[in-house]
Amino acid sequence: MKFSKLGQKLSGDTGTLQLMQDLGEALAADTPPLMLGGGNPARIAEMEALFRSRLLAMAQSEDDIYRSLGLYDGSRGEQRFLEDMAGLLREHCGWPIGPENIAVTNGSQTAFFYLFNLFAGEHTDGRHHRIFLPMSPEYMGYADQGLADNVFVAQQPTVELLDGGLFKYRLNLDVAAVPEHIAAICVTRPTNPTGNVLTHAELLQLIELAEARDVPFLIDNAYGAPFPNILFNDAELPYSENCIYCLSLSKLGLPGVRTGIVVGPPEVVQALEAMNAVVSLASNSMGPTLVHELVRSDQLVDVSRDVIKPFYASRMQVALAMLQKELEGLPCRAHKPEGAFFFWLWCEGLPISAQALYERLKQRGVIVVPGHYFFPGLSSAWSHRDECIRLNYSGPVAEVEQGLRIIGNVLRDAYR
Ligand code: PLP
Repeated sequence: MKFSKLGQKLSGDTGTLQLMQDLGEALAADTPPLMLGGGNPARIAEMEALFRSRLLAMAQSEDDIYRSLGLYDGSRGEQRFLEDMAGLLREHCGWPIGPENIAVTNGSQTAFFYLFNLFAGEHTDGRHHRIFLPMSPEYMGYADQGLADNVFVAQQPTVELLDGGLFKYRLNLDVAAVPEHIAAICVTRPTNPTGNVLTHAELLQLIELAEARDVPFLIDNAYGAPFPNILFNDAELPYSENCIYCLSLSKLGLPGVRTGIVVGPPEVVQALEAMNAVVSLASNSMGPTLVHELVRSDQLVDVSRDVIKPFYASRMQVALAMLQKELEGLPCRAHKPEGAFFFWLWCEGLPISAQALYERLKQRGVIVVPGHYFFPGLSSAWSHRDECIRLNYSGPVAEVEQGLRIIGNVLRDAYR
């Protein structure tokens, strides 16, 4: 067995791997870099106190200890949790669903791996069906998830320039150019990396396309409402029987419990149950047990609205003012931050590649994510993809400020 060949297989240009390695190195370093890369949520004192009190209560409860540590749940999750989660989504989103519409996975990253490979690839008609990403740039974590090659096809948005050094992507759906054989449509909303929130009208256009093509519409709601609710406007999420909604506990401040929640038609949920049984037997029970009481009492929705949402809205305002100051005079713009906790910086005419900028910043002790990873499936030549970087502003304010100052200086050098 030549294990060295495995190395070649796994060390391709895999953005997710680079990002996670940067995170791991940062954690292990004696002098950690300024971490504006990665997707870690903020440390919010109220949330940490809430989780600590839940853990203490769990430690005192024989039933909770058994449920969280001593049991394999069913491959779809624990029935009582599924029922209460369905109740929460019925009440707060108005979705007409029951426990048969929900599957729990080991994080929503795993849910997308299941879903993409369930729908995409070679179908019984002998044709290769791909996942359509209508609003590129999209979440880089999707890029390497297809078991088949060439799993994504994407379209470019229009770019609307806004005041205050901002811009916004608008859906520029070219229905005629969408390949005939698509397996599903997928968007993140709020979008990672841009912080964009697709408008209601844009969502309806995509729901209509999914219905016309008779394919599912996957909506990645990792940052959306009703939890964690990192949304800076009142965008609602319409319900359609054709939609599959993916939620997560991670951005509440719980990435360690690896809990994703998929809501969709019972047939899809049963397929996910089967895939999870084969791959994992069952999902982690720690996350569901930790939040179950908060789901039942509605506290999860309350803290998302009253603690998490205002925390990030205020953090975004503070960080945006810093960013605007550091970028003054540079031909750089940020995407209008409407949700999630990233700035997507577009440096027009950047004389070096986004990867080279990432490397220069890393040498100066700042980790960001180069933008070119966020365009899976986009075949059109677009210089934009090498002119953007993603910055996570959820870290401690002083570190974000220092990081932004260094980014401003390194960009000034690059444009000189
Ligand atoms: N989807 C989006 C848009 C994300 O940003 C992330 C994580 O950063 C995930 C999915 C995966 O989240 P998790 O597997 O932690 O639920």
